[in-house]
Amino acid sequence: MTQLTTATQQAAQAHALDLLSFIDASPSPWHATAELARRLQAAGFVELPETDVWRVQPGGRYFVVRGGSSLVAFVAGRAALADTGFRLVGAHTDSPGLRLKPRSAHLADGFLRLGVEVYGGPILATFTDRDLGLAGRVHVRDSSAPHGVRTRLLHVGAPVVRLPNLAIHMNREVNEQGLKLHRQNELHLLFAIADGQGAEAFGQWLAGPLGCTPSDLLHLELLACDTQPGTLWGPHQQFLADSQLDNLASTHAGLQALLAVEQPDHTAVAAFFDHEEVGSESAAGAAGSFLQDTLTRLAEALGAGASDLARARARSLFISADMAHAWHPNFPAAYEPQHRLLVNGGVAIKYNASQRYATEGEGSARFIRACEQAGVPWQSYVHRSELGCGSTIGPLVAARLGITTVDIGAPMWAMHSLRESAGVLDSYWMYLALGQMLQVG
Ligand SMILES: [Zn+2]
Repeated sequence: MTQLTTATQQAAQAHALDLLSFIDASPSPWHATAELARRLQAAGFVELPETDVWRVQPGGRYFVVRGGSSLVAFVAGRAALADTGFRLVGAHTDSPGLRLKPRSAHLADGFLRLGVEVYGGPILATFTDRDLGLAGRVHVRDSSAPHGVRTRLLHVGAPVVRLPNLAIHMNREVNEQGLKLHRQNELHLLFAIADGQGAEAFGQWLAGPLGCTPSDLLHLELLACDTQPGTLWGPHQQFLADSQLDNLASTHAGLQALLAVEQPDHTAVAAFFDHEEVGSESAAGAAGSFLQDTLTRLAEALGAGASDLARARARSLFISADMAHAWHPNFPAAYEPQHRLLVNGGVAIKYNASQRYATEGEGSARFIRACEQAGVPWQSYVHRSELGCGSTIGPLVAARLGITTVDIGAPMWAMHSLRESAGVLDSYWMYLALGQMLQVG
């Protein structure tokens, strides 16, 4: 492995601690987007509402939010768009988990429980016996707000719900068979003893901190979140653990990389999408029109026409950053032996002949060159041939925008667990590699 200077190690650790605080401030995709907007605004980026006319200056810094959970930020290039194109990085703001159903609170044998739907593909067993809070959005009646509805973020960071395991004495085979949970019957979150109250007790409890009445709660979009803060671990603190590393680690790296971009000739873009874990087909998702609309309006605002935009896209490169599966020494048979990703071994470039990853030859070679220039080690990843390969936003953006795309990711363990882990150096290297791509391309 590369000999690292103390300065690199210190910078990597500072980056990792900032990543953990970013995740802990982002228990839902809506919170993640608010935290992205907060950091962008603090760095001088100006929000462009989709409802407004946009005024964009070459060299200016802007961001656009859609649906409260997706965000595209950019530094407008100083040179003509058609001659320079875009350098884009992308990631997703959502993570798999348990989402409260609209009428979630209900009584069951003297208990108040909250019914949930499974969002994406979480490892359900990891939600059991954990100190769970609630986070998301609440839409409240408010006659002074547009359409009479005010949308508010809510984060209950204290443990308020729980999914206790069944004791091993009633589930003797659990260690041999694994924990199996029936999605309709066995995932209800325990909230309270009913004590004579009905399901409305949940609304009353929620309304308190919101300072409204229960009848003002028009709609809830809440999920179960972990209340345990992120941490570094290992004797030399070379690893980190937190919920939502997939994919807030890449989101954070993309954000920090864009913040560090200095006045390029080309336009540097960082796009963060919701709904990746459920296939991205939504108004705010990567398969929707958000990125295309934003690039079109940005080009228009810079005075570039349709053919200028097509020329710009033909000169562009999109780096899709999502986490990658690190080699786990306890399960060697799960991996393609020639493509093992080592934690703290560098950024992974993901390849799939069936285009589940969009990486193609030229883009991949350009990315390797950028890694070399930035002093970032890199590794190649291929899934085992007999296993179905996951996918990400890369192929969707590549297909919709016709832009050369590379799928990359930092290696991690336990993808889609409520508590995932990864390498401190890899998250820093991801930031450096994305920064190099955005600045130089
Ligand atoms: Zn992901």
